[in-house]
Amino acid sequence: MTLEDADAYATAHSTSATDVLRRLGEETATRDDAEMSVGPLEGAFLRFLVALKQPRRVLEIGVFTGWSSIEMATALPPGASIVACDVDPETTAIAKRYAEEAGVADRIDYRVGDAFETIASLEGPFDLVFLDAWKVDYIRYYEAVLPKLAADGVIVADNTLNGLHGNERIAAFNEHVMNDDRVECVLVPIREGVTLIRRRP
Ligand code: SAH
Ligand code: CA
Repeated sequence: MTLEDADAYATAHSTSATDVLRRLGEETATRDDAEMSVGPLEGAFLRFLVALKQPRRVLEIGVFTGWSSIEMATALPPGASIVACDVDPETTAIAKRYAEEAGVADRIDYRVGDAFETIASLEGPFDLVFLDAWKVDYIRYYEAVLPKLAADGVIVADNTLNGLHGNERIAAFNEHVMNDDRVECVLVPIREGVTLIRRRP
């Protein structure tokens, strides 16, 4: 059984995406960089995590066309919100358009600009952080975000299995987290891998 087989089977046996997200997927699929989108399986996973965690404040680093932010926003408890950072105004505009269609735009504060600057300007604590920007900087994002993580907060870092396929920066990030006594982590082999990180109790 390959990871691709496992993912296809898992996708087929997970609650499917809404029509709005299916259309977002179709529009995203016309782009060269379409594979960056989390897609239906990981989207369902993120939505479920948010439903379990019931975060008040969520931070997303790396929005792209918006699948992950919309999935998370859909499951937020009343009054909760997401700050969603991306440098690209064009993809952020797509994300906003679909968030409006999905009826969750009022829960998502899209911030266009370099995420490091946005993070520096934000007050914690965040209950959930989805880390999904360029992989070269993962350790820096992690270190910038950890001081702003709530005591019982969770960081969800995407594409971490790529450490297995020769991505040295991701491999270094995985080692960094593993060896960090402040936290415990679990790498879940969904899609390209999702690492869940929380402070050690
Ligand atoms: N979570 C998205 C996929 C994100 S792809 C989804 O589900 O569709 C990675 C994104 O990170 C890209 O859109 C890129 O513009 C953004 N990015 C990369 N480096 C960044 C930085 N320093 N600050 C803000 N955004 C950044
Ligand atoms: Ca990703």
